[in-house]
Order: sequence, then structure tokens, then C-alpha cells
Amino acid sequence: MFDVLRPRVFASSIYHIDVSGLWDAGYRAVLTDLDNTLVEWNSPTATPQLVAWLEQLRERGFQVAIISNNKESRVVSFARPLGIPAFYAARKPKRAAFLRALEMMSVKAKETVMIGDQVFTDILGGNRMGMYTIMVQPIHRREAGGTRLMRLFERVVLREKPW
Ligand SMILES: [Mg+2]
Repeated sequence: MFDVLRPRVFASSIYHIDVSGLWDAGYRAVLTDLDNTLVEWNSPTATPQLVAWLEQLRERGFQVAIISNNKESRVVSFARPLGIPAFYAARKPKRAAFLRALEMMSVKAKETVMIGDQVFTDILGGNRMGMYTIMVQPIHRREAGGTRLMRLFERVVLREKPW
């Protein structure tokens, strides 16, 4: 049974995602969370491995954008050097920022992959939109206080979480 709180798939990290497989399945856009999905929470810059991964996505043909609940200064200063559009203070799982991202990329939700490390923001938000959701293991244990609380609820709803 499809559950709005369950990711379609789990991945240990973004680097374990089958990018070519997603393209072959018809997906054309990748929306991704920032903190603890691409880099550690509040880590200011991309790693060389992340830069290469983003380049791989774009070379394959994907449109890529960041969608983060973190504040403007953090998100913009991270995304700008990468040349990636970013939606900050997105208030995931609310729909508004997802809709703006789809409009900017000129893609449909069903062509879009949402990647993130949290059930109640990234996965719930992507699923509600009808996107293909991929949940990654958080990169590091350090995160915002409110997030730590939500992890307890995640454990209740996601008994099959592989980590
Ligand atoms: Mg996150």
C-alpha cells in the first residue's frame, strides 16, 4: 500500500542513487534537500564529490534545484557558487515552494525526483506532490534541535528504515 510518509526508495547516500536508471524511467528533474542530504547540516560549501555528482546529473540532462527549509543566507550562499537554483525557507512539506520549483523547471511533478533525509518535510512533501521520493541516510548526526525531535516520530512511522 502506498503511504504518503514512505519514500519510494531508500539510498545510503546521494552517491548510491542510480541516476541513469531514473533518466531511463522518464524522470527529468531532481529536486533535492540541502542539509544532511548534500552536505552536513550548515556546512558552507560543496565537497568535490558533490560538485561532480551535480555535474553528472546535469550532463545526463536533468534539471536540478535545491529546496531547503533553511534560511536565505545559508541556502543562497551554498547554491550560488554551484550555479544551481535554490528555494529557501521552503516550509516543506507545504506545496508552495514545490510548485514554484516545478514552474521554474517547466516539468511535471510525475517527472520529478525529490531527494531528502527527512520524512516529515522532504518525503511527505514530495509524495503529496506526486513526485518520486528517495530518502537518504542523514550525512551526520548533528542537526537542528527540532529535527532531532522529528527523528523520534520517523522511527515510529518508518520501521523499515535500513539504517
Ligand atoms: Mg535535510
